[in-house]
Amino acid sequence: MSLLWTSDSMVEAMNGRPVGRLPEGITGISIDTRTLQPGEAFFAIKGDALDGHDYATAAVAAGAALLVVAEAKLPALGKLKVPMIVVDDVLAAMTRLGIASRQRSHAQIIAVTGSVGKTTTKEALRHVLAQAGKVHASVASFNNHWGVPLTLARMPADTDYGVFEIGMNHADEIRPLVKMVRPHVSLITLIAPAHLGHFRNLQEIAVAKAEIFEGLVPGGYALLNRDDKHFKLLEKLAVDAGVEHIKTFGENARADYRLIKLKLHDGCSCLTARLAGEEAVVKIGAPGRHIVQNVLAVLGAAHLTGADMAKVTLALASLRPESGRGARHSLEVPGGTFTLIDESYNANPASMRAAIELLAAATPQGKGRRIAVLGDMLELGKQAPKLHADISSVILANPINMVFLGGPEMAALKAAMPVEFHAEYRQSVDELQPQLLNTIRAGDVIMVKSSKGTGFAQIVKTLLQKY
Ligand code: ATP
Repeated sequence: MSLLWTSDSMVEAMNGRPVGRLPEGITGISIDTRTLQPGEAFFAIKGDALDGHDYATAAVAAGAALLVVAEAKLPALGKLKVPMIVVDDVLAAMTRLGIASRQRSHAQIIAVTGSVGKTTTKEALRHVLAQAGKVHASVASFNNHWGVPLTLARMPADTDYGVFEIGMNHADEIRPLVKMVRPHVSLITLIAPAHLGHFRNLQEIAVAKAEIFEGLVPGGYALLNRDDKHFKLLEKLAVDAGVEHIKTFGENARADYRLIKLKLHDGCSCLTARLAGEEAVVKIGAPGRHIVQNVLAVLGAAHLTGADMAKVTLALASLRPESGRGARHSLEVPGGTFTLIDESYNANPASMRAAIELLAAATPQGKGRRIAVLGDMLELGKQAPKLHADISSVILANPINMVFLGGPEMAALKAAMPVEFHAEYRQSVDELQPQLLNTIRAGDVIMVKSSKGTGFAQIVKTLLQKY
């Protein structure tokens, strides 16, 4: 296996001190001994709850080629028979390695942020750009102060396309991260109510997301959603940040990457788009209008990095929904099967709407029904009751047959539903689940959607185990 870093280059980039006889190099970087592969370096990062130094022995047992540890922890680790690079602070050293990785890279780099759709867009970019070259992209939602440097440090030197997700809960979080990433394209998917806790309004969120323009390489592109209510503000912020090239995607007639025609199907979508003057007919193998919006961004970003668009558009046909973000399962019940749409990864008002529309576009079989199983949307601050109640209009505007609502916040939605609508409400998942299990029958389409940390993923697990 080829080396990701030589030990010498790591020592130099991290300003570290070698202890023991270092190997020639490492094949990868790990911060988690449960997934560490033999030959990788283990970085003993200290998190909020756990300290990687406590897992040094496990890292050696798993085959770590070397450990990167803090000077202050060395006395406690001295007995370990493994080479080490000793640094002042492990996260700071990993960040320095990330910066060195960016410096040595010739890749086209795309940075993705937004209130929703970051991971979906990042994964779609990974999928399509793999047809055009060697891609390196963030794992899962590794999009924060350790996820971004880790992803950078892990980027192989021969990468053609780097795709980095950058997230935030506070102002000033994106700026230092994007300055490390130095993208050629900075993409904002959408500004919407999500992680509202630390912000007073959506404008403040837009301003914080606009920090992503500050790391652009000279001549780089800002890629913006022209259908976003905050487009004008983001455009102004991009100009203020000195961005020379602003490109847009969306349905708006002035978008550079523009939707012209769209046909939504149960399991896929077909669209005609105008891409910088050229028309393209595209099939997307993952359903949903929100996926179409993300795909327009993907087409724009791919085009701006100079990727072969014939390969990119072809690859979209084999795109599939991500786990917890629209993945479908056909499950057996007496008399046939029912369909489970797993949207349990996370929820906010925009993605809740998208998921209900996804359910509405699905086709029940025989006497089957469209059933939405909805849990609380968290981190919405004072506006939470109103934003939950507002979901009633989305449900009523779509052909949904019944809803199962669970969690304290969902009481506001239950109260907003007309009494004649079949809406079951329970305070907790434990109370709601038996009600749902008693209701399911062959032909149903059941969509489960909720924020992380509400326990709704358990409903999906139960359904997958039981049927
Ligand atoms: P998080 O910050 O919670 O990690 P994210 O920005 O990475 O979220 P995704 O993980 O891609 O977003 O998607 C979260 C949810 O939003 C999923 O249910 C997904 O299907 C839905 N979603 C994805 N893109 C959009 C979009 N453009 N509009 C509305 N909902 C979307």
